[in-house]
Amino acid sequence: MMHKPFSFLSTILAASLLAGSTVYAAPPAPIQHEHTAPAHADHQITKRTDAENMYNTIQFLSQAPRVAGSPEELKAVRYIEQQFKSYGYHVEVQPFQFEGYTAPSEVTLKIGTEKKEGEAFTYSPNSDVTAELVYVGLGTTADVAGKDLNGKIALIQRGNISFADKVRNAAKQGAKAVIIYNNTDGKLNGTLGGSDASFVAAVGITKQEGDALAANLRAGEKITATVKVAGAEVKTLTSHNVIATKKPDANKKNTNDIIIIGSHHDSVEKAPGANDDASGVAVTLELARVMSKLKTDTELRFITFGAEENGLIGSKKYAASLSEDEIKRTIGMFQLDMVGSKDAGDLIMYTIDGKKNRVTDLGAAASSRLSGVLPYGQEGRSDHESFHALGIPAALFIHAPVEPWYHTPNDTLDKISKEKLDNVADIVGSAVYQAARPGELVIEPIDYPRRNVELQN
Ligand SMILES: [Zn+2]
Repeated sequence: MMHKPFSFLSTILAASLLAGSTVYAAPPAPIQHEHTAPAHADHQITKRTDAENMYNTIQFLSQAPRVAGSPEELKAVRYIEQQFKSYGYHVEVQPFQFEGYTAPSEVTLKIGTEKKEGEAFTYSPNSDVTAELVYVGLGTTADVAGKDLNGKIALIQRGNISFADKVRNAAKQGAKAVIIYNNTDGKLNGTLGGSDASFVAAVGITKQEGDALAANLRAGEKITATVKVAGAEVKTLTSHNVIATKKPDANKKNTNDIIIIGSHHDSVEKAPGANDDASGVAVTLELARVMSKLKTDTELRFITFGAEENGLIGSKKYAASLSEDEIKRTIGMFQLDMVGSKDAGDLIMYTIDGKKNRVTDLGAAASSRLSGVLPYGQEGRSDHESFHALGIPAALFIHAPVEPWYHTPNDTLDKISKEKLDNVADIVGSAVYQAARPGELVIEPIDYPRRNVELQN
């Protein structure tokens, strides 16, 4: 799962509440199923999924961080490719280029002469500037209009628009650096989403520090700040997606449908990424292994994406490579991201618009047959976004709230729960198999609640 790019959830929530709508595209009218009963079908999955296999995958992948474009990410790509091939799949490795970012070796923030803690935003350029600090609210075009920021440092609050737009707006008015403060508790270390020649250095600070500075500036105090970012570097790198395809078993009753099961194999810097997202890759591989032994009437694509942490770049590239026909035929995308931590909460399905869809219906039905109620909520921040953008029903399967080790060097194998891996593989596997096994797709109408658990406490 990637860093929060900006605070947009409240806006979207407000919009969907106004619309007052929980309606979604319903599947075609049910036709009676003449084949195996769901319980028996689920058993085809649950008796085969093996937590040891998934644990071993995580053990291999989490030996080192797998930053997009690094040799370690490529090693993961080759491993995943080999595993898929060993299950008998046709595998495509899809390379793509992106702008990689080497984090700065030094970030210094001073208010007057006092050193403060600041985090450089990903894709912040280097700079060394000491200048007057000017408060510009949320940093919208309206906020900066008419403000003299020439050669100065802008103090901006997080919220409403992206970090990148805040930095661009301030830079356009002449600011030489930007300090953005959080609108919630905790450190602020976000991303500007990609490199841009118009960016100036951008550093994040806490809400507490920011509120105090803003109050003093509003009271007329003159404050001088220093923002130094050194050693950061942007360069063109290559990452890869790995795609294993299972064509429907030869039969004239085959559907023309495609289902995608996805996860991401890259991690952030310094994090071994055992849960984020070696766990999702492990479940993807295990479901590919299990499905290779079963007859299906629907095309299955098992995909691990690269450069997810850099802004869902791999899944966007893959989505852009799909033809109109493939998009029309894709009836669901199941994204598995952070699905094995002992220290995270319960499983939830998140959609981009906060509405139920075919994927959540299938997931909730499978869960109710196997292990109980599975709620849904609204969140992006993973590769399901790239498919929702194409109009494909998509959902993120994740345990929420996420563990305290998220994006830290402590995201290691010892925090992995085999029971959780097994449970997620059984639910998602049974959900996919309900749609992909031979016979008409009938989704049993069940109630499942909306539960908007914040991913991070
Ligand atoms: Zn992540």
